[in-house]
Amino acid sequence: MRIARFRFGDQVEFGEVIATDGGVLVREFEGHPFQPPRYTGREFPLSEVKLLAPVLPSKIIGIGKNFAEHAAELDSEVPEEPLMFLKPSTAVIGPGTAIALPPRSLYVEHEAELAVVIGRLCRDVPEENAADVILGYTCANDVTARDLQAQDGQWTRAKGFDTFCPIGPWIETELDLTSDNPLALKITCEVNGESRQFGTSKDMIHSVAKLVSWVSSVMTLLPGDVILTGTPAGTAPLRNGDVVDVTISGIGSLVNAVVERA
Ligand code: MG
Repeated sequence: MRIARFRFGDQVEFGEVIATDGGVLVREFEGHPFQPPRYTGREFPLSEVKLLAPVLPSKIIGIGKNFAEHAAELDSEVPEEPLMFLKPSTAVIGPGTAIALPPRSLYVEHEAELAVVIGRLCRDVPEENAADVILGYTCANDVTARDLQAQDGQWTRAKGFDTFCPIGPWIETELDLTSDNPLALKITCEVNGESRQFGTSKDMIHSVAKLVSWVSSVMTLLPGDVILTGTPAGTAPLRNGDVVDVTISGIGSLVNAVVERA
C-alpha cells in the first residue's frame, strides 16, 4: 500500500493512496502507520489534500558514496564499510515545499536517493531479517552544500540546513528490496525537466539489507526513522527558481522548488 501523511483544512492525518475509476483518493485511517490501518471511512480526492512528508523521523541516517560512479565524481574511493552521517529531523520537508538555499553556501547540490522507512524499534538486525523492520520506501533528496562539506571535513553543516531533506510523496510498502532477488528500481533526478541523475537500486555497493543491519548495529532505530541509501552519479548545483524532481520507479515523484533562504 501507499501511505501518505496529509493536511486537509487544519487537520493532519495519515491515509492510504488508492487509484479508483473516479481518480486517485486518499482513504484516511486513524492514528499512525506502524500498525494495521483502521479506516475512518473518510476519503478525499488526492488533489484536495496537501501531501506532507510521509513520516516525521526521529533521525535520518545518510550513507555516503554508496554508488561507485558518484564516489568517482567526488574524486573519492568507495568506502569498504558503509559510511554513515546524520541529518537532523528539522531538515525534513514534504513534496511541494521549497528547498531554501542558505546564503553561506555558493554550491548546493541535489542527491536523488531511495529512502528506507523503518517500521519498528530494532537494533542489531541481521541482514536476513531486515525486511521485518522495514515499513516501506519513499523518494528523498539528500540536499548538500558541497562547498561547506569540503570546508568542514565533516558533514553536519553541509547536510543539515533546514529544508535539506525533502521526502515523499508517500511510503510504498510492497516493494521487495531485501530478498536474494531484489527489484532494480530506477532512481532519477530532473531539474527543470532536464535529466541530471540516473541509477538503479541494484547499483548500490551496500544493499538495503546490509545498510539496515549495519546502521542498527550502531544505533537503535525507531519507527519512522529514515535511512538514505546513497545517490547515483550526476549530482549538480541547484539555483534559485529551479524545480527538482526525484522519481523512483514503483514509488512516485518528489517535486520541490528551490528558493533563496530569506
Ligand atoms: Mg547522499
